[in-house]
Amino acid sequence: MTESENKHNRPNPETKRQRNQRPVGQNEPGRPEQLKQHLEIRTLPYGPLESCSHVIRIGSSSILIDPSIDPQRLPESWPKPDLLIATHGHLDHIDGADVLRDFCQAKLAIHYTEEGSLINPKDNLSVYMGMEKTFRKADLLLKEGQIITLDEQYSLEVLHTPGHSMGSICLLLTGPEGEIALFSGDTLFAGSVGRSDLPGGDSLELIKSLQKLSQRLNKPETQKLPIYPGHGPATVWNREKANNSYLNR
Ligand SMILES: [Zn+2]
Ligand SMILES: [Zn+2]
Repeated sequence: MTESENKHNRPNPETKRQRNQRPVGQNEPGRPEQLKQHLEIRTLPYGPLESCSHVIRIGSSSILIDPSIDPQRLPESWPKPDLLIATHGHLDHIDGADVLRDFCQAKLAIHYTEEGSLINPKDNLSVYMGMEKTFRKADLLLKEGQIITLDEQYSLEVLHTPGHSMGSICLLLTGPEGEIALFSGDTLFAGSVGRSDLPGGDSLELIKSLQKLSQRLNKPETQKLPIYPGHGPATVWNREKANNSYLNR
């Protein structure tokens, strides 16, 4: 954990992990120091809607979830991300897709049913904000169950969770000792869920997606799993399971 991360004023499961001395999949007694330092997650809020970009650094490489921020906001001294993954195609999550791709020489990945949002201002909602923003096509198209290998130990599992939008995904970060964190996009927030009344949204699909998350995370090892939503503070799975009424419908 870096000093600057500790200064981060947003409630953050990384901080919680440190406070409780009860990390998920990391830092258990006896773990080599090298591995403790191997993984870092930093959340960078963006714009008036305060959508969250999350940078995951693993050793000497990094990836960025939801490329909305300007490149200048990337953590100084961290390696530039070589992969940008959009949890969905709304403007507040992809606004930096092209500038970040150019700056980092990175590839952009999005669920295959969401790729239209890069080229259609109605799909990415920019037209409703008085703009007509379009972006270059995706470099990689994702699908349910796909495993994105980050290095020899860490990977992201793609969970297709439609409802907020057709091609919304959650990303489950997994390491040598199991699940480390869930990046939930606009599907699941701390104490709430994403709206389903926008074009491409579907409230029944959203409930099904939340049930799918519950099934996937319904095991003792993931009860304290940190969750990094697309807006607002981070949270923890068992807190949501206990308090978030949308997860119990
Ligand atoms: Zn959003
Ligand atoms: Zn959204």
